[in-house]
Amino acid sequence: MKHFPIFMALEGRRVVVSGGGEAALAKLRLLLKTEANLTVIASNPAPEIASWAAKGRLTLIARPMEAGDALCARLFYAANENDAEDARVADLANREGALVNIVDNLEDSQFITPAMVDRDPVVVAIGTEGAAPVLARAIKKDIEERLSPRLGLMARIGKAFRAKAEALPFGVKRREFWAEYYSKDIATSEDAKTTLDALLDKHLSAHGKEGRVDLVGAGPGDPELLTLKARKALDAADVVIYDRLVAPEILELARREAIMLSAGKEGFGPSVTQDAINEMIVSHARNGAHVVRLKSGDPTVFGRLDEEIEACEASGVAWSIVPGITSASAAVAALGQSFTKRGRNSGVRFITGHDTKGFADHDWKTLARAGEVAAIYMGKKSARFIQGRLLMHGADALTQVTVIENASRPDQRILATTLGELEPTLTQANLTGPALVFLGLAPRAALNAAQQHELEAAI
Ligand code: SAH
Repeated sequence: MKHFPIFMALEGRRVVVSGGGEAALAKLRLLLKTEANLTVIASNPAPEIASWAAKGRLTLIARPMEAGDALCARLFYAANENDAEDARVADLANREGALVNIVDNLEDSQFITPAMVDRDPVVVAIGTEGAAPVLARAIKKDIEERLSPRLGLMARIGKAFRAKAEALPFGVKRREFWAEYYSKDIATSEDAKTTLDALLDKHLSAHGKEGRVDLVGAGPGDPELLTLKARKALDAADVVIYDRLVAPEILELARREAIMLSAGKEGFGPSVTQDAINEMIVSHARNGAHVVRLKSGDPTVFGRLDEEIEACEASGVAWSIVPGITSASAAVAALGQSFTKRGRNSGVRFITGHDTKGFADHDWKTLARAGEVAAIYMGKKSARFIQGRLLMHGADALTQVTVIENASRPDQRILATTLGELEPTLTQANLTGPALVFLGLAPRAALNAAQQHELEAAI
């Protein structure tokens, strides 16, 4: 972030604009919404500026800027639409201690003015650091459409009601009251006041809130592969308990006030024990919190979900599952392949290389057959074991095997190999991220090459 957004207190503060044409007018239209003490310095001011000055809305100095004009100014805008003059006045203002913006000159400006959606006192500022003004305008339009034109009115009346709302206990209950108020469609200030009174009565008489647990799939890593339901749950969470594999970009989407707790688990290995995680989930929910238990991929795939559900049931805590995209789905998409294919395989297995007891055992004989397809989760450490078992049960050493590390993430890697070469491929690749091993699948390009090879061999 090259520019840090802040909201500056300008009430009664001096803001100076040098320039009297279109550029100055555009800035003045924004600045006149503030309670700043405005001064315009322009030898040839536009009629609007003269008329604002006549009405006392700003002070007009009708001559070019001189040293001393920007003294005590918080902000200074150089808006002369003339590079040489802008550079001269910016230098003067700079020496006099003002923060300087030169209109349409990002490079030499100390601050920039964002695109704004104004529902005063609710103001949304949008910045792209000058990279994409078109995008900023599109976002502004989008937000304009989403925010009720009466939001400002609601917020002002809401603010005056804050003391009364303190009758509700701090935390979840008070938040719910405000959330319901801001979800209402309100027409007039009278309407807003009656609604607030009625809502306060309703919430004061409501019973203590019951906590609950959403067991949510965070997908394989790419935030765009998160479901809308998962986003909504994150938006409403009081507590988020997440696994180590959940991408940081996804954690950023949680409600800002949510308590974020790491469950530290990565498949297997050093971790908070499952019992401790169950206890964490249940105790927060019993305190009335909306807990989001965020698990990588789909929570129903190798996620010890049932143990967490049983813990909730044992404590009488309500729960629900929000499915996610499992990492194998993202990985197979990255190969440009499908899991099942007519004439090749009519089924696919999701197996784990490792379970709580160690290397997991499987029906190796079936898996060793030609045309079998399996997605092996947690297969990194168990690769040698799996390879040995399959070869022992008669699998062809040339069976295609693909390893996908960090599926759907920017650092995704695809390693196409064969069953016979799996071990050395993994050793050489030195994988650091989560990885899946696909048995019987190759990336589309490699597949074409192999088919070509077979074809040539047949001729
Ligand atoms: N519930 C998860 C799986 C949890 S088990 C899911 O549905 O994907 C953890 C294993 O998932 C890891 O060892 C790895 O094999 C796999 N995994 C998770 N995210 C992955 C990713 N982005 N790329 C490749 N494999 C991943």
